[in-house]
Amino acid sequence: MNSSSLPARPVYTQVTHAVARAADMATQAYGQGTFSVGGTLLDPLGNELKAIHNNVVVNGLTHDPTAHGERQLIDWYYAQLAQGITLPPPAEMTIVTSLDPCCMCTGAILAAGFKVVSGAFDDFAGINYNRQASFPSLSPGLRRQAQTRYAYPAVTGSARGFARPATGTALSAPFAAGQTVDQADVALCQALFQATVNQVKNTINTDLAADQLHDPATLPADDPLILALKAIDPAALTYRAPARGLPDAGLAPHLQAAARVDLTQGGSGNAVALLDPFGNLLLCMPGHEHVSPLQTAFMRLTRSYAALREQLINNPAIGAEKTRRYLGHPKHGTWVFAKGPDDSARSLMELGAFGSTMEGAVPSENPVPLQYVVPGMSPTALTAWCQQLPPFYSRCVVVNPLQVQSQALIAAMTPTL
Ligand SMILES: [Zn+2]
Repeated sequence: MNSSSLPARPVYTQVTHAVARAADMATQAYGQGTFSVGGTLLDPLGNELKAIHNNVVVNGLTHDPTAHGERQLIDWYYAQLAQGITLPPPAEMTIVTSLDPCCMCTGAILAAGFKVVSGAFDDFAGINYNRQASFPSLSPGLRRQAQTRYAYPAVTGSARGFARPATGTALSAPFAAGQTVDQADVALCQALFQATVNQVKNTINTDLAADQLHDPATLPADDPLILALKAIDPAALTYRAPARGLPDAGLAPHLQAAARVDLTQGGSGNAVALLDPFGNLLLCMPGHEHVSPLQTAFMRLTRSYAALREQLINNPAIGAEKTRRYLGHPKHGTWVFAKGPDDSARSLMELGAFGSTMEGAVPSENPVPLQYVVPGMSPTALTAWCQQLPPFYSRCVVVNPLQVQSQALIAAMTPTL
């Protein structure tokens, strides 16, 4: 293929055209049966480097709970750098998204340093859920960053509910300050999302209740489900907590080993383990932050578990019923962080990704699905922060990480972190 036969790369210098492009990607998401959100990544001249849509759901199954458009665009950017491709620095890159970014994507955007232009608001899970660009969910440091990077351009038109004044920071290259978005473009962004959000949640809400789950430790060691689990983490099923949600010091060696690897792979020495409702260790992982600041231990773990379930459901030798019976939805499990959240963008991303992973309210019989061993900030401040997150996180999922109860586990981990 010579260069003249390559498709022309779109160039956007009018913000409404870029919002229309994001809506076009959201339309493609609609066709896939996933959340209808899309976005485009632009360089300082307005050249589209990559356009993408939400990929949480593929073929009616949760493919990757973190595959929101913005998160994927940022990982794409770092993947290009890893291949030696030269791109402008993150501060000069703009993501134009059809819907206001969620907590996970905001953490990713701020951790990386990108600029954002949002089409429609999202009063439930958007970081600007109060529509005032005051970002009450963000720590003061992150709020200052967001206020210089998040633009909500004015929307022109007469339709009630769509026309709005500009808020957030002023538009900057590739757009000119003061540009506006046509109400038809932002209405399309909003209508597409609203057309799918409940439908998609119903599609993926096909998992078993906790009392219908079976203990994978009762399967033979050579069962294909066990072999697939151990192919990801050979230590799977080698530790079992004494009771559901109550990990003890026996988990420490696993977290310590993964935390040591995390340090060598560009991370801060964090690690995360996932225990099932029987207390079994399913997976324990470090991050891969030398590849991308988005590939923290938790992000890798939740994506790996979703990919494993999808792979097993699609495997005719195992199938949906057996997978769902032995490897339940992650909302039934316990996620144990070696180090708890701090006030960084990375922690915001992880708390948001946890909310996305839960896909809705956590069952009442699993009151503490998110735990940490060593605190990253004061427990009181952490709880207060979580109560300020957008309604999806604070009132639906009720994100509220707590320290593990086992003093022996805390004592075992504290000197190593
Ligand atoms: Zn998001």
